[in-house]
Amino acid sequence: MKNFAKPPKLLFNNSLNFSFFARMSLFVSSLNSGSNGNCYYIGNENEAVLVDVGISCREIERRMKRLDLSMQKIKAVFISHEHTDHIRGLHSLVKKYSLPVYITTPTLKFGRLYFKTDVTRNFTPHETISVGNLKITAFPKLHDASDPYSFTISYNDIRVGVFTDIGLPCENLINHFKQCHAAFLEANYDDEMLDKGNYPFHLKRRIKGGKGHLSNKQALDLFKRHRPSFMTHLILSHLSQNNNCPKLVEELFTQHAEGVKMIVASRHEETPVYHITSTSNPLIHHHSVQPAQMELFV
Ligand SMILES: [Zn+2]
Ligand SMILES: [Zn+2]
Repeated sequence: MKNFAKPPKLLFNNSLNFSFFARMSLFVSSLNSGSNGNCYYIGNENEAVLVDVGISCREIERRMKRLDLSMQKIKAVFISHEHTDHIRGLHSLVKKYSLPVYITTPTLKFGRLYFKTDVTRNFTPHETISVGNLKITAFPKLHDASDPYSFTISYNDIRVGVFTDIGLPCENLINHFKQCHAAFLEANYDDEMLDKGNYPFHLKRRIKGGKGHLSNKQALDLFKRHRPSFMTHLILSHLSQNNNCPKLVEELFTQHAEGVKMIVASRHEETPVYHITSTSNPLIHHHSVQPAQMELFV
């Protein structure tokens, strides 16, 4: 697997081996992130889900192949809301791979999505859905769509959140963020760039208005105040092309990282696959691995 360094040998004496850790892990990647298309991969060694399908089926196949991830591992798709950058490639992906699509009725209706076969599955807020050994939970978020949700995906005791397209960090978001070992977190705009930029007033108001997008400052504040001690990766996502800059986001968050690996998801290509392993695993503590050393797993 690309960017998948073998763990340091010292961890695996006493008959511990790499496959043990692979069995305890989640693998995550942003296949694309931004207003031009969102698609997030989260899986264990056997099965995976995609959250949102905002890029074409062909691009998903191409990027998964580059990451050495098999399309056959994808067992279901979860749709957060009906904006085009989250559903653009859905029809063609579902048609080709006959995947179940977890989506609510308002999102289907407002997204004008019709499927010839019975592929859609409804879900309700806070319900836990099992896809193989993965457990997915949806919770409502503040965004200007018909019925928008964020998701967490867990496997064993490891949890990853996908938190983009959020107007404000509501209580739901804070509570879920506090439980994540890794999170895709929206850092959509820099306040000054948005204010000084040439977007029309109504669009600026929509973005900042509480049902639009999270700013860098809001995302950083959420991270600083609520990140759990066991969080290892933060993947800054859904960056605006016009009102943000990847370098700015990287510098801003790195200053406050305190051992968390900061990644900025691209609008144009996939990130590497990150290997999320529970630091609360007693075997890891037993071997006195400091959080910084977890980066060797990436
Ligand atoms: Zn979006
Ligand atoms: Zn949206």
